[in-house]
Amino acid sequence: MSNRTNTKNQGESLNVLTQTQMVIKEALNKLGYGDEMYELLKEPLRVLTVRIPVRMDDGTTRVFTGYRAQHNDAVGPTKGGIRFHPDVTEDEVKALALWMSLKCGIAQLPYGGGKGGIICDPREMSFRELERLSRGYVRAISQVVGPTKDIPAPDVFTNSQIMAWMMDEYSRIREFDSPGFITGKPLVLGGSLGRDAATARGVTIAIQEAAKVKGIELKGARVVVQGFGNAGGYLAKFMHDAGAIVIGISDAYGGLHDPNGLDIDYLLDRRDSFGTVTKLYKNTISNEELLELDCDILVPAAIENQITSKNAPHIKAKIVVEAANGPTTFEATKILTERGVLLVPDVLGNAGGVIVSYFEWVQNNQGLYWTEDEVDRRLKEILVKAFNTIYETARARKIDMRLAAYMVGVRRMAEACQLRGWV
Ligand code: GLU
Repeated sequence: MSNRTNTKNQGESLNVLTQTQMVIKEALNKLGYGDEMYELLKEPLRVLTVRIPVRMDDGTTRVFTGYRAQHNDAVGPTKGGIRFHPDVTEDEVKALALWMSLKCGIAQLPYGGGKGGIICDPREMSFRELERLSRGYVRAISQVVGPTKDIPAPDVFTNSQIMAWMMDEYSRIREFDSPGFITGKPLVLGGSLGRDAATARGVTIAIQEAAKVKGIELKGARVVVQGFGNAGGYLAKFMHDAGAIVIGISDAYGGLHDPNGLDIDYLLDRRDSFGTVTKLYKNTISNEELLELDCDILVPAAIENQITSKNAPHIKAKIVVEAANGPTTFEATKILTERGVLLVPDVLGNAGGVIVSYFEWVQNNQGLYWTEDEVDRRLKEILVKAFNTIYETARARKIDMRLAAYMVGVRRMAEACQLRGWV
């Protein structure tokens, strides 16, 4: 996937932090807040950089760089995932922490945003090396995290096994069992039913609401999903089960296209733990081609900066729902909105993940576990309400859905900062 590490695209800024700050500024402005509030909220309150020495299987030591950013804790402890990826940067982690604040605000969760990342390529590491890296990261950040301080979770290329190691390491350091330290855990270690599929469930709810607004019948609708990891994989399955025709999917290496619909169950069976499946095929298309396929609903579920001012004019979908964080640039958002495409931004589209993480943390705190139906029912209630609030805000103010989502997302945090006397 191109555009990932470049910071410019034909004069368009691809720095996700700068882009996010522009929208935060506009949102605060529209809510009537001045420069002081923007100064407070434009960057995380705290960013910790750590160096993690890891003994590799061949006996050598490699030192990895990791980050943990805590955007703002006026509403409650900070919350957000940990990403393992070679392209992780400090600015990216900061932007991801800001987005977490917005998601928590939109869903009205008692949290602010946080995020972590380690520069590494887990595809080239063994199971035991990954365990040592995960435990080393927790030792390095243990002073600033905790069940009432900052609660991590999975993100790109991290999973429930990694959460289990991290929870175990934290519990050993603190010398008491601390399931509420981290979410996205395996079920037997205090995980929640429905957490694995939560991001995709949330995206599905957003798609259903967007389809209603656009008068599109989900049954028979043509769907393209970019990315076949946790979010993209489950989503392709849910769309298929809902009677939609998934005509395109992709992974980091390329895409598959069949206008009559792909066999999603077969592809899910074949994919590896990093969501890779296209390597098995000869007739692939590029990720660029995939995004421009003729379809009704497009779901970018991979990484940042995939829809830019360059390809936004050629996107054919009527609805774009962001399952990834930051897949559409600031300028591309404007282009799509002007073209009448209904864009459901990441901070609403993929908030299902953190919402069910919150449910997991609540269950850990009370020691009482819910049924999957209970989880799904509560998730739907929150997301349908959030979608409608944001859609109505966008309509009433004649602004795009991203700006509307930022306004709804930042409001509670700004109010909490004011009430605490910070601004
Ligand atoms: N990593 C997910 C996100 O970007 C989930 C975070 C969480 O569950 O805390 O929203």
